[in-house]
Amino acid sequence: MKHAARFRLPVFPMRLAASCLAVAACFLTAGTQHQAAAADAAPTKKLQLLLIDGQNNHDWRKTTPVLKSFLEQTGRFEVTVATTPTAKNAPEAEWDSFQPDFSAADVVLSNYNGELWPERVQKGLEKFVADGGGLVIVHAANNAFPQWPEFNEMIGLGWRGNSFGDRVTLDDNGEQVRTPKGEGPGAGHGPQHAFSVIIRDRRHPVMQGIPAEWMHFRDELYHGQRGPGQNMHVLATAYSSPEQRGTGAHEPMVWWIPFGKGRVFTNVMGHADYSMKCVGFQTIVARGSEWAATGKVTLPVPENFPTAEKTSVNDPNAEN
Ligand code: ZN
Repeated sequence: MKHAARFRLPVFPMRLAASCLAVAACFLTAGTQHQAAAADAAPTKKLQLLLIDGQNNHDWRKTTPVLKSFLEQTGRFEVTVATTPTAKNAPEAEWDSFQPDFSAADVVLSNYNGELWPERVQKGLEKFVADGGGLVIVHAANNAFPQWPEFNEMIGLGWRGNSFGDRVTLDDNGEQVRTPKGEGPGAGHGPQHAFSVIIRDRRHPVMQGIPAEWMHFRDELYHGQRGPGQNMHVLATAYSSPEQRGTGAHEPMVWWIPFGKGRVFTNVMGHADYSMKCVGFQTIVARGSEWAATGKVTLPVPENFPTAEKTSVNDPNAEN
């Protein structure tokens, strides 16, 4: 039953499950012709995206509104923001009021890089993803939580020193190369610049229809990321040029890792609000969020997607 397989109930919060069951029952009982009609007429339910921010060595007060805006403009998401205590060493009572509701979410997006969350929140996120929820990591969110082993497992590579774990890069043939811990560079980046992104798995739902190579708007090009790096599906890389104080390697920009029944989608681009206005960034984060939540992508690749030669930003005031 092709349609029934679409509704993997454990992935959905219970309050969605009832309506999904109703739709599934409709598919199951209708004739072929009616099935198609029902599929066309069925309203696509908005995905609940829980965005977490509150501490970051980046300007999260500027970047969260950019993320929220382009995600909601796709029409596919309803975004709820959960903000941690913003001051370091906040009183415990303030942390007690940080109660992100994972049970209501289809996908969690982290724009957070700060103090370790209370254990109940850590366990909540682990359970959410293990039970089939999606997790999306943007830029410095992968700098967070070196002391949280399950988080390191989920992100695979993070902003850590070279003694922390292995490094994963791609060679000129697109094959993964592991550099053992202690060897080679740790995490870093050169000066911000526009750079070329190479798609490494064009069959992946998020990357289908995206040009094989395209120019990303001004950003930091992360290199030397470290971690357990297990089960990494590298979807896109960028060449870290020595001329830009880089490593001379193809560094992973976008990857995903399974965790239990869930999917963790990491995109290390997005240093600042202007980097996030890149149409390429927005397309990949939106499609990645949809895919992490559902395993499918319906969002289109926009016509103004960057090309191999030219950046493209959703901001009339930006220099292109
Ligand atoms: Zn940055």
